[in-house]
Amino acid sequence: MSIAEFRAALGDIPVEDHPRIVQQRSRDHYWYSPILKARLDQVTAEIVVSPRSVEEVKTVLREAHRHGVPITPRGAGTGNYGQAMPLSGGAMLNLMNLDKVIEITPERVRAQAGIVLEKLDEATKAAVGGELRFHPSTYRMASLGGFIAGGSGGVGSIRWGGLRNLGSILRLKVITCEAEPRELELTGEDILKVAHAYGTNGIIVEAEMPLAPAYEWVDMMVGFDDFIDACRFAEAVGRQDSLLLKELSPCAAPIPQDYFNRHKPYIKDGQSVVLIMAAPVAVDPLLVHLGHHGGELLYRADKIGETEKRRLPPIYELAWNHTTLRGLKVDPSITYLQTQYPTLEHVERIVSMLGDEMPMHIEMTRFDGRVVFSGLPIVRYTSEERLEEIIRIHEENDCLVFNPHRFTLEEGGMKRTDQAQLAFKHDADPSGLLNPGKMIAWDDPDFDLNSGRAWLFTGLEPAK
Ligand code: FAD
Repeated sequence: MSIAEFRAALGDIPVEDHPRIVQQRSRDHYWYSPILKARLDQVTAEIVVSPRSVEEVKTVLREAHRHGVPITPRGAGTGNYGQAMPLSGGAMLNLMNLDKVIEITPERVRAQAGIVLEKLDEATKAAVGGELRFHPSTYRMASLGGFIAGGSGGVGSIRWGGLRNLGSILRLKVITCEAEPRELELTGEDILKVAHAYGTNGIIVEAEMPLAPAYEWVDMMVGFDDFIDACRFAEAVGRQDSLLLKELSPCAAPIPQDYFNRHKPYIKDGQSVVLIMAAPVAVDPLLVHLGHHGGELLYRADKIGETEKRRLPPIYELAWNHTTLRGLKVDPSITYLQTQYPTLEHVERIVSMLGDEMPMHIEMTRFDGRVVFSGLPIVRYTSEERLEEIIRIHEENDCLVFNPHRFTLEEGGMKRTDQAQLAFKHDADPSGLLNPGKMIAWDDPDFDLNSGRAWLFTGLEPAK
C-alpha cells in the first residue's frame, strides 16, 4: 500500500491528514461497549477523503484498488459497533458531501447517500407531504447511506418493520472497488447483498426509498406502576390496526427517573413509562386504551406551550439507542444489549431473573405482521464474563441476542454467513479493500461462529 501515491492520484478531491481530525473521523459510537472500547481504541486511518460527486467516488475506488489502500466508508459515524472504524488503516471515505435529493414523487424519493435523514424528510414533506417510513433515533445526524449500510430499523418500525424487509428500500446505486469501478443498480432481492453489509462489498452512492404520509406526530409519555403492565399496554395498542403510531417503547423504572432529565417534571417516582409518537387522530382512542389498562397520561406535546416544547427533546431522542446514550451520560459504567423476546412471558421471565442489573428497555416493532418485543436493555456492567453470562441466560430462555459488543457482521447478527453478501464481495471488491475485518467469512471462512470465542481480526493490535 502506498498512501502517498494514492493521495497524489486523487487530484483535487479534498483530503484531510491532520492526525487528530483523522483519528476523530476514524471513530463511531463503539465506546458504548466497554469491550469494543478496549479493542478498538487505537484504531485510526491515515487520511480522510471527501469526494463531492459519484465520479470522484469512482476515482477514489479506482486509485485505492491500484495502490492497495483499504477504504472504510463513513456517513455521520453514529454506528455503535465500530462498524465504521478502519481496522487496517488506509483511508476513510467520507460520503457526507454526496447530499443531493434527486427526485421526489408522491410514493418515493431518490437521493444521494450522504444526505442527513432529517433533511431528506424536510424535502419530501415540502414537496409531497410524505416522509421516510422509519428512521433511526439519530435522525438529525445520520446519513441515508449509513442507515442502509449499518442500521436496522427505528422510529416507525412499529408500523413498517425493518430495513431488510423487502420493500423497505427500493433501489440502490453502488460503486465497486476494482481496476475500473462499475456503477451497479440493485433492486428487489439484490438489495440485500448490500443492505446492512457495513460497506464491506460496495459503496452506496444513491438510494430510492418508499414514502409514507407525513403526520404532525404527537409525542406522549404514559406511566404505569408495574413494568409488565406497561408492556401489556404497549403490546395491545401496537396490535390495534386502527391506531396510527410511529413509536412505542416501554422503559422500566428507574430508567426514566435517572436518565430522562428534561422530562423529569412529568415523571413519577417508581413508575415505568411508555414513550409514544401517535398521529393526532390516534391520540383520543389511545387514551381510551390507556384507561382500560390502568395507565396514566404523564405528558402529551400537543397540550404544552411552545417554550416548554422547545425545552424538551423529541420523544424519539429518549428511545432506541438514545436511551443508552442518556444513560451513559449519567453513568458511564453502564452498557447495553440488543435482544428480542418472543412473548411478554419471555420479557417477564428475564426481568425477574436479572432485576436491577438489567433495567429493561423495549422497542415494540412489527415483524412479519406480528408485534414483537425488541429489547435494548441497559446493563450495569461488571465484567466481560458476566456480560457473556447474561447473554447465555437470554439464549437459554429462547430469547435472541444480537451482540452489540462485536464489530463483525456475523457475530453482531445471526451468527451465520450471509452467502449473498459474501458472493457480492468477491464480485465487487475482489482485493478485499472495503472495510476490512468486518466480514469473518471473507477473512477466515473456517472460523466456527458457534465456538463461543470472539473473532479477532489479525490486523488488529491489542489496545495499549
Ligand atoms: P455510519 O456510522 O457512518 O456508518 C454505518 C456503517 O455503514 C459503517 O459500517 C460504514 O462503514 C457504512 N457506511 C456508511 N456510509 C456508507 C455508504 N454510503 N456506503 C456503504 N457503506 C456505508 N440504528 C438503528 O438502526 N436504529 C436506531 O434507532 C438507532 N439509534 C441510534 C441512537 C444512537 C444515539 C446511536 C449512537 C446510534 C443509533 N443507531 C441506530 C445506530 C446508527 O445511528 C444508525 O445505524 C445510523 O443510521 C448510522 O448512520 P451514519 O450515517 O452515522 O452511519
